[in-house]
Amino acid sequence: MASKLIYNGTILTMNATNQIFKPGYVYMEHDIIMEVGEWQVDGSLDHLLEKSSFTYNAAGKVVIPGIINGHTHLFQTFMRGVSDHSPLAQWLKEIIWPMSLAMEPEDFYLAALIGCIENLKSGATYMMDHHYIHTYPENDASVLRAMVDSGIRGHLARGGSDLAGEVRLRETEEQIFASTDRLLDEWDGAASGRIRIALGPLNLYGCSRGYLEKAAVFSRDRNLISHVHVAETSEQIDTTMARYGLRNLELLNEVGLLGNQTQVVHGVWLDDGELALIRDRQASVIHCPVSNMYLASGVARVPEMLEMGINVALGTDGPGSNNCQDNLEVLKFTACLHKVNELDATLLPPMDVLRMATVNGAKAVGRSDDLGSLEPGKKADLVTVDMMKAHISPVHRASSALVYNANGNDVDLVVVGGQVVVEHGKSTWIDEQEILQRAQARVDHLRSKLAGLYPIFANTQ
Ligand SMILES: [Zn+2]
Repeated sequence: MASKLIYNGTILTMNATNQIFKPGYVYMEHDIIMEVGEWQVDGSLDHLLEKSSFTYNAAGKVVIPGIINGHTHLFQTFMRGVSDHSPLAQWLKEIIWPMSLAMEPEDFYLAALIGCIENLKSGATYMMDHHYIHTYPENDASVLRAMVDSGIRGHLARGGSDLAGEVRLRETEEQIFASTDRLLDEWDGAASGRIRIALGPLNLYGCSRGYLEKAAVFSRDRNLISHVHVAETSEQIDTTMARYGLRNLELLNEVGLLGNQTQVVHGVWLDDGELALIRDRQASVIHCPVSNMYLASGVARVPEMLEMGINVALGTDGPGSNNCQDNLEVLKFTACLHKVNELDATLLPPMDVLRMATVNGAKAVGRSDDLGSLEPGKKADLVTVDMMKAHISPVHRASSALVYNANGNDVDLVVVGGQVVVEHGKSTWIDEQEILQRAQARVDHLRSKLAGLYPIFANTQ
């Protein structure tokens, strides 16, 4: 039987009472967690050691549920660090769009695969990838293949924009919906259920009202998650006010796209009425603090949202605006950003931040029943983090060490659906060095092509 035992570690279950077992164990059969509890040094649990085909002594390690990265754009690994000083609109125009248009189908596979590996290696077992570049019909499949090949759980929000600022990235409503239906037919539930499809209207300024209204009906008819960039910058509020006399969330609500399957990505510039709308409609907010800081977009009202009972999950955002996919790093940024923003050091204790990354993430993707915590009956998705490092140890509280000390390089083991996909901090499914070398060669080629057209790609300073 494909059974696995992780024992002798500090288990942060993230169950309803944030129970910790130290030393504890997690016993899994196939893709399901069967037992979680205190490890017994008197030998009374040794039968689990004997019957497990994989055993892992987690001494010195913390075991957590797999992190759920609520928002990214994997293709952007190819454009991370082109420039570090552009606000959103300029960054899109001068970096993201030109590189996206230059990329070929296999580039989307390589870029996404690097992103998947980095997500896994920094503790994410599930990511929501908002993919909106459809220059070739096979782009979505390239991203999905990367998810399958890496071993991660991947949810692809099929992005779409009929009013994109870059006309070559525009699609008609018919193209967007037909392609989403094809993805649902061909990919939803693939790789033993690891792959899911959602609808991802790009944002409220690059999408017409008519398209947004049809997207609401499309998502409702097919019971899909709707994943949308909302109120990322203050400029975006002005756009919907000028076009419709509505703030961002008011528009989302009016077109019928605000419900308990809606993921409001960013939600930085929201007023009191909009927060109340999110709460009343039971939508989730995906908070991406690193991206909001990097692009100087603003500070979302996260402590107030949590206080109001809004489900706030976390995301890295794309590697173009982060610039990495380190899911443990996001935890520290989340806590620190809101403490300094409100000049209140008591905000966002570590367990609350960890809940955002796990339990709240599972709720946002409609998987509270089988993901987000280490409890019997849930999917065997877990991560071990090595605490025996000079930048972490000695440890008083594992939750604090995880949020404030650990980073992605400290992840040792990652299990997704009962399968080991990272061991000793290395992908077990992918030859990383080979992929990195191929990707660098492609990026060097694309960079030399773009440098003549866009000076920013010639800059090496
Ligand atoms: Zn984004």
